[in-house]
Amino acid sequence: MWIGIISLLPQMFQAVTEYGVLARAVRQGILEVEHFNPRDYAEDRHRTVDDRPYGGGAGMVMMADPLRQALDAAKARAPQAASAKCPVVLMSPQGAQFDQERALQTSKLEGMIIICGRYEGLDERFVTRYVDEECSIGDYVVSGGELPAMIVIDAIARHLPGTLGNHLSVQDESYLDGTLDYPQYTRPESFEDDQVPEVLMSGDHRRIGQFRRRASLLRTLQRRPDLLTGRVFSEEDRLILNEWFALNEAEGLE
Ligand code: SAM
Repeated sequence: MWIGIISLLPQMFQAVTEYGVLARAVRQGILEVEHFNPRDYAEDRHRTVDDRPYGGGAGMVMMADPLRQALDAAKARAPQAASAKCPVVLMSPQGAQFDQERALQTSKLEGMIIICGRYEGLDERFVTRYVDEECSIGDYVVSGGELPAMIVIDAIARHLPGTLGNHLSVQDESYLDGTLDYPQYTRPESFEDDQVPEVLMSGDHRRIGQFRRRASLLRTLQRRPDLLTGRVFSEEDRLILNEWFALNEAEGLE
């Protein structure tokens, strides 16, 4: 997958492209990240890319023209096949909230262009003309679009075949099937007198599967019940939940 990034601080992206599983994906050509800096398209000798807001107020605003030229350069490098869809996505606290489903769907694209805002944001005329969608990482404001973009790129790249050593591990993760992941344990068997649940050492894969499914469902029920609202449960899930509710009711009556 090709990702074009429009940012005033491209060096920040070394944090994702040079470390960990994403660095390997870049080395193997699974993920290609290319940078386009609006400052390279500024026309004055100070390479100005921002100016004061019309109407007054605090802070500065990113100017439309250097952004447009950086975007033109990115579009010229993006996958060109007629079938290739490369949406132009602006990182913004005002956008739709990014989630695991969105990461999965986006990973099926051949490419995308991500714009990282700075200062108080971008000239609205650029946004309305050239941005296809706005994407938020949550209901809070950070100082620039680079960190949000890195989160989005990391979450997407985990779904690209080959990024993770074992592709099954992404299928097991929290949120993908609408539940949280089950708890994990590793050696030693005993930590501060706390033993690894016996079933996990039994070698009985059916029981291990049941234990994990139960843990996953109950953890979701306790921590994020909103994820279970409106969900159609399998017979196995219904049994687990009914048993848990019956147990809690019995305990409540004692
Ligand atoms: N004045 C803007 C507002 O209140 O909507 C916030 C500007 S913020 C200081 C600068 C840039 O950081 C934004 O243009 C955006 O690219 C990025 N940003 C900040 N918070 C974000 C979030 N929650 N999700 C995605 N991007 C964010």
